[in-house]
Amino acid sequence: MGISRRDFLKISGGAAALGSISVDAAPTEASVSDLRIKDAKVTTTICPYCSVGCSILVYAKDGKVIQTEGDPESPINEGTLCPKGASIWQMANNPTRLLKPLYRAPGANGWKEVEWDWALDQIAHKVKDTREKTFRTATKTMVKEVKTTDPNWDKSGLYPEVETTAEREFAVNRTDGIAHIGSAALDNEECYLLQKLLRSWGLVWIEHQARI
Ligand code: SF4
Repeated sequence: MGISRRDFLKISGGAAALGSISVDAAPTEASVSDLRIKDAKVTTTICPYCSVGCSILVYAKDGKVIQTEGDPESPINEGTLCPKGASIWQMANNPTRLLKPLYRAPGANGWKEVEWDWALDQIAHKVKDTREKTFRTATKTMVKEVKTTDPNWDKSGLYPEVETTAEREFAVNRTDGIAHIGSAALDNEECYLLQKLLRSWGLVWIEHQARI
């Protein structure tokens, strides 16, 4: 059945009139909301998706996340979340979520689940081996130098200058064999500690998706 423009205006007018009848839905909404999060443990977390760093309230019951919402106390998002952050509970409640590291051995055509301890040991060994193989205490590079010629050439003190290029050695104490990329899920203190650790290894290739 087609709807004429007149019919449409009548229906819209009726809906508007209904909408103007004073019905307070707040108590109903509040009781539904209460039921959902009643007795749930609430903790705060930071959205791991992007560098805005919105704060999220996480409601959990029996060890399971049952509700997430923007934290109204946060000066960053003031209770709001973008669609990505609003769907964050799916990250916890997801049958495809990885709970253990996956490892693909050299030459293998598939991944296998491994224990965290084994994976962390592997990473530590590889970092140590790579650092030992690639660490350099000094490096040579070509630099431009400006020299004055014989000062006795001009008694006025205006000595002619010549620009030369020479190879020089500089202390660097670094490794170019390892790079690191940080995550938006890291907070200031974690980033600080990470910088200390990475610089102590001699890393210079350090990138980060910074938080505001
Ligand atoms: S909720 Fe959206 S805007 Fe906020 S940190 Fe997460 S992804 Fe970024």
